Amino acid sequence: MFERLPTPFGLVRFGVAPDHPEVKNVIHDFDQVASTEGFRFFGNVELGVHVSLEALREHYDAVVLCTGAQGERLLNIPGEHLQGVVGAPHFVQWYNGHPDHVALRPQRPGSAAAVIGQGNVALDIARILTRSPEELHATDIHGAALAQIAAWQRDGLQTVHVIGRRGFIQAAFTNKELRELDTYDDVLPIVDPAELALSRNAASEQELSKSRMKKRSVDILEKMARNFADRGTTSKRIVHLRFLSSPCEVLPSEDGSSVGGLRIHRNELQGEPGQQAAVRSSGGEAEDIACGMVVRSVGFDITPMEGLPLDGRKRVPHKQGRVEDAAGGLYVAGWVKRGPTGIIASNIADAQETAGRLLADLSSRGGDPPARAGPSEVEAAVRASGTRVVSYEDWRRLEAEERRRGEADGKSAAKITDVGEMLRLL
Ligand code: NAP
Repeated sequence: MFERLPTPFGLVRFGVAPDHPEVKNVIHDFDQVASTEGFRFFGNVELGVHVSLEALREHYDAVVLCTGAQGERLLNIPGEHLQGVVGAPHFVQWYNGHPDHVALRPQRPGSAAAVIGQGNVALDIARILTRSPEELHATDIHGAALAQIAAWQRDGLQTVHVIGRRGFIQAAFTNKELRELDTYDDVLPIVDPAELALSRNAASEQELSKSRMKKRSVDILEKMARNFADRGTTSKRIVHLRFLSSPCEVLPSEDGSSVGGLRIHRNELQGEPGQQAAVRSSGGEAEDIACGMVVRSVGFDITPMEGLPLDGRKRVPHKQGRVEDAAGGLYVAGWVKRGPTGIIASNIADAQETAGRLLADLSSRGGDPPARAGPSEVEAAVRASGTRVVSYEDWRRLEAEERRRGEADGKSAAKITDVGEMLRLL
């Protein structure tokens, strides 16, 4: 297993919310795989820098790319370049202590922030911005990011708007994450009852009647609609879920140097049940929301990589995980295979499908396997590149150090965020 960072686990380490430690339990399964005979970890080895995909394909019978979706989607609206607009992928990696993004320094939001998009990532961000820093301290959240969020809250961060372009029936978040917002003493989730009602047209009702999950979400959202009357409170921080609203411009602050607000317009839904699209309402007035931070949380994109075919939708053409290219022996699993959707469980099933395809291909290959120089040559080339290869045993030492530092500070772990420091510790 080759990994660019000295630390394994990708999204589990840098994407899963720090206050969802139970989701990270899958690391125990990964540890088990790592202790399987024949498994080796090559951390701090970057594909395309220390070793090429071409070289890997030459030396191994099969190569599986699990490189995820590293790119982020843009809104393509005026003002998006302003200081204070930040993409969710980097923002999440900032508070999760990713070495590439710990220095992000997001702008101070003032009294309000807006998160665009209504997937689970958007809810994670709204929760981390509004939950009590004292409660989050015990998690493995990056300490400097938490201190920054605590300072924003002390400076008056009061409301996080979570803005969805369609109705609640089409929203991408799941009920567990939605319900969770209403379980913290100092967070008040609210929904405008009028917007909730607007979300329901005839096609939506048909969608609703077919989805047990969405039927349950009605109860949760109706409770939040009852909270709407308390929207003026200052004793709790507010998460305001907005529906049928699209951002049309990020507005500058008075001196023009950064974000001062967000202009949104009202949408209506058009199209068949299950395929309803948000279309700007005719005559619908625009509304300006004052905020000093805009977090774009509208999904991820697979980034192109030399040797990886991508179609027009930025998807890898594959059959059961086997990439459809002439040479064969190349596979994909995870978000690079299925696109940037799905929780860990869905990706496990996908990975199993790819592994099954790979094993079937190898066993049906017939004849003599092609002569290959073998993995030891690729290893020699990686080591000759001068990078300090981090083994799984090295990683376990880093992990133990993170736990030791965390215990000293009342946290589950204090992540080491500097690659140079990690390597010096080994
Ligand atoms: P997502 O679930 O695909 O949600 C993206 C959101 O952005 C949708 O609400 C989408 O609305 C909206 N959007 C896209 N383009 C937009 C635009 N131009 N203007 C306004 N809104 C726009 O993506 P995600 O939140 O990044 O999550 C990725 C995956 O990770 C998901 O499968 C998620 O469930 C999973 N995840 C799970 C958890 C968890 O289980 N706790 C936590 C984090 C992530 P439309 O529907 O209208 O396109």
